[in-house]
Amino acid sequence: MHANETDVLTAARTWRYDAIQSPTPSDVVSEVFASDVLTMDELRQRLSKPVWKSLSATIDRGVAIDSSIADTVALAMKTWAMEKGATHYTHWFQPLTGSTAEKHESFVTPTSDGAAISQFSGKELIQGEPDASSFPSGGLRATFEARGYTAWDPTSPAFIMRHSNGATLCIPTAFASWTGEALDLKTPLLRSSECLNTAATRALRLFGDTETASVGSTCGVEQEYFLIDEAFFFRRMDLALTGRTLFGARPPRGQELEDHYFGSIPDRVLTYMTDAEHQLYALGIPIKTRHNEVAPGQYEVAPIFEQSNIAADHQQLVMQVLRNTARKYGLVCLMHEKPFSGINGSGKHLNWSMSSDTGHNLLEPGETPHDNMQFLFFCAAVVRAVDRHQELLRACVSSASNDHRLGANEAPPAIMSIFLGEQLTDIFDRLLAGKSGRSRTHGLLGLGTPVLPPLPRHAGDRNRTSPFAFTGNKFEFRAVGSSQSVSFPITVLNTIAAESINELCQAIETKIKKRQTFEMALVDVLKDVWKRHGRIVFNGDGYSSEWHAEAKRRGLHNIPKSVDAFDRLLKPEIVELFSSHNVLSNRELEARQEIMFDQYFKTVNIEGETTEWMARTQLLPAALDYLAQLASINVEDSRAVDRSIGSVAAACDALSDAIEHLSEQNAELGGDTVHSKAHHMCSNVLPAMQDVRTAADAIERLLPARHWPMPSYREMLFVK
Ligand code: ADP
Ligand code: MG
Repeated sequence: MHANETDVLTAARTWRYDAIQSPTPSDVVSEVFASDVLTMDELRQRLSKPVWKSLSATIDRGVAIDSSIADTVALAMKTWAMEKGATHYTHWFQPLTGSTAEKHESFVTPTSDGAAISQFSGKELIQGEPDASSFPSGGLRATFEARGYTAWDPTSPAFIMRHSNGATLCIPTAFASWTGEALDLKTPLLRSSECLNTAATRALRLFGDTETASVGSTCGVEQEYFLIDEAFFFRRMDLALTGRTLFGARPPRGQELEDHYFGSIPDRVLTYMTDAEHQLYALGIPIKTRHNEVAPGQYEVAPIFEQSNIAADHQQLVMQVLRNTARKYGLVCLMHEKPFSGINGSGKHLNWSMSSDTGHNLLEPGETPHDNMQFLFFCAAVVRAVDRHQELLRACVSSASNDHRLGANEAPPAIMSIFLGEQLTDIFDRLLAGKSGRSRTHGLLGLGTPVLPPLPRHAGDRNRTSPFAFTGNKFEFRAVGSSQSVSFPITVLNTIAAESINELCQAIETKIKKRQTFEMALVDVLKDVWKRHGRIVFNGDGYSSEWHAEAKRRGLHNIPKSVDAFDRLLKPEIVELFSSHNVLSNRELEARQEIMFDQYFKTVNIEGETTEWMARTQLLPAALDYLAQLASINVEDSRAVDRSIGSVAAACDALSDAIEHLSEQNAELGGDTVHSKAHHMCSNVLPAMQDVRTAADAIERLLPARHWPMPSYREMLFVK
């Protein structure tokens, strides 16, 4: 038996049953939930009344933390953490790479008499100074001022991360340079929440709401991922180095039977999911759903939505726990947007809405005409925001890996549009057509505006091809990549929504000054939004070529390539948007663009080198071996042998030519700036890689399996 066959059987038979823990009865979940989180309740119980009062002012209203209480809070945190078995603490932050970073410090401090005591001061809680000079800063720090500092975010609770041999107290923090510039993804997210709060509260006041004290965005993220056996993973250099397969002929069976979607979850996978969920519950992450996705080997998990800042932190933990836990079951969790060509990719559906501190969802159609007008107002603000900032929305989900979904042959397309559903679209249409102030029949407030029919929360015509869909009481941003941090996309949504809400408020206020009633002003403003921005609404098939033509007619942007999307980030209106809302300064935005280009360049560069390496040292030699074997067959006049030699030799030539061409492109760096390098990768290296792949995949179909030096798609996708 050759190596491949052994792997397949090993993978199929011997996953580690011993890793299964005793099943968790569901009634224990309530005990487990948030058991490793220092919840507000827990913290309150551990602090004196005055200290809690001071701290909660910081948490609830963003009042600067009183440093005199810091030591007390730190002591309470340390005591709690040590009771949970923690020996170390870390400031946990989100650098601009999109992952999370941690540097553990022990609680233990040696004393002069040779003993050791445990220590954790207020200073250490509030501010850390990781030697973080290797994190990308996009030019925000020169090396001589390379230090950044982390600052405690008291609005996201501290938690315990466990590993087989201990536990660590994790303190969510922001990460900034000494000059005060944000070096992370959390800081702008917090700033954007603040500007959304200001704008939405202003709007609610216009609607006569005097109760709401604050508004924040809410967020629930559906995460797609693949699982494959680790025996396959480690035998594929491409998966191990780049997270995706750079080669692989499509098997005779892909996902066309669609029998995997919502199918019964394989036992091994379900056991894994249960384990991961259990850990996520302990971290206070309200995981709600799990199911098989469309592609074989693809799955999805989703929590109940939470306040955005917390949801973003939790999303990072979901990815981390899914990845780490897989190994216990002999699996590897692939978060890449397109691990397998020709098979559906993975995305992340970012469900987003706005909600008041009184618990009212601003995107929930209401019971009364007044509520409905308020709903239409916020809905219109989002329509306007998405239309105005198509390019920014495209840019904030751009990466080398997400290009395999957006703009490639897969939904959602690289064109931003909104699915509103027939009914809601019709309501806006009728609003626009209505003669305000006239018709009283079926009228709302006597303004000729229709009363909303009840909108189905889960309409049957759910549109899976739309990048941005209204799904009953929230918007679902579906273009986000599966491996991506949701922090920047949320920041963008908060900021563009705030801008539009403010501008609509401004328009209404101006009309009121000119003696229009609020209702008349509101209807005029909504009509105006629909007239100018209704073009962004598209309820049809976003995947079809008709839509591409139609979108062009409507003047919508179609940006299939990330490198072109990055370029748009510094357009004047985007710079102005972020700076006027104090979310990102010009320099901070430039830094982000720089890092996006840089990451793109590095990602494709590594893929290009890996493609060349594998093709040259593994695939071509395998084919030549087979060719040699064929040539040594000592039979005369065999059409089979002649044909085989002919086709294998021709395929080897094609592969060899393609390798030489890729090699030239790899040797070329594409200039001196990250921009030109990224463009070189996009225009020259990617196509050259594709040619190598096409030639190699053709050979895979010609070679006997025992000659093919790595696991095939069939094996990776169908052995569970
Ligand atoms: P589907 O998209 O399949 O209909 P669900 O209805 O389960 O899935 O919702 C998907 C996600 O949307 C879940 O994480 C859910 O918590 C989240 N969600 C629901 N309501 C809101 C809201 N008001 N704000 C943000 N996210 C929400
Ligand atoms: Mg969904």
